[in-house]
Amino acid sequence: MQRFLDALSKGVFASARCRYCHSIIWPPNPVCRRCLSSDIEWVYTDPSKDEIRGRIMAVSESYINGVRFAFIELENGIRLLGRVLDDKQEPSVGSLVVMVGCGIIDDSDEPYYLFKRLHT
Ligand SMILES: [Zn+2]
Repeated sequence: MQRFLDALSKGVFASARCRYCHSIIWPPNPVCRRCLSSDIEWVYTDPSKDEIRGRIMAVSESYINGVRFAFIELENGIRLLGRVLDDKQEPSVGSLVVMVGCGIIDDSDEPYYLFKRLHT
């Protein structure tokens, strides 16, 4: 988990994958939740270089501190709460998005993920 936060603090998105059953472990955990193996490999992706795509599954109805959040499923099946950056249109369910940044909110261990809509 610390490894995940360390990577995030550098703007890198880390995901853990079980070497034994190959499932993605999310939220990151040192032990695979499916087969209990502790043989984990970390996959690092940098949103400024790698394209991390996802799809909006749900959008929050209200604003939290002026920010509207969306529940996003990434292509690898990871689901997380992200923020879709301002666009002319409201984020809508089913929209394709790409991660443009991630990190840790200052003075906390709270991760954040920023997305923008993909226009295809
Ligand atoms: Zn496993």
